Amino acid sequence: IGFNKYGINKEIIRALNVLGYEKPMEVQSKVIPLVLEGKDLIVKSQTGSGKTGAFAIPLCEKIELETNKPQALVLTPTRELAVQVSDEITNIGKFKKIRSVKVYGKQPIQMQIRQLKQRVHVVVGTPGRISDHIKRKTIKLEDLKYLVIDEADELLNRGFIDQVEDIIKKLPHDRKTLLFSATMPEKIREICSKYMISPEQIQI
Ligand code: AMP
Repeated sequence: IGFNKYGINKEIIRALNVLGYEKPMEVQSKVIPLVLEGKDLIVKSQTGSGKTGAFAIPLCEKIELETNKPQALVLTPTRELAVQVSDEITNIGKFKKIRSVKVYGKQPIQMQIRQLKQRVHVVVGTPGRISDHIKRKTIKLEDLKYLVIDEADELLNRGFIDQVEDIIKKLPHDRKTLLFSATMPEKIREICSKYMISPEQIQI
């Protein structure tokens, strides 16, 4: 009934208990098993549905701690969402000791560069600043296993979609891609068919 059925690490179950997450929300019960199976996913869901946990829980499960380089990259349209997502990953990965770093504009880049040099498993950020770190070679992407595109329609509305596409082109090809969006405009569908491999589609 609870999260135990997914066979996830007890350190993550413990963190979910601390957060008061007793049972998966609908989007979580649909998404978690498929991410654990290694599927690419297109998820149509709204904020407030529990979508952050839907990707954060299985990603925290899949992170290999010994690899101290980013294994997951989450792109968000706003700095507020980057903070929320990174905090959720930090909370869920607390007992497993997963380290999430957030990077966004209008914040000193040197501080972010220092954080990215330390052990880091997940990077969450806005496309502009992520691109900047890629250009400066201050973010290591060779061990990246997961790309999450969060609120894809908002990334499009805010004019970030070309930057998102440029970032995707620089990622390892053997990664998984998870895309979350409340609506599915043509441009987002295009990105999905260009860069995802037989994605499963989920509607909440
Ligand atoms: P989100 O849609 O990711 O912004 O999540 C909406 C809210 O639901 C957040 O405040 C989460 O902390 C909370 N939440 C996420 N998953 C669960 C769960 N399984 N049980 C209870 N609350 C949850």
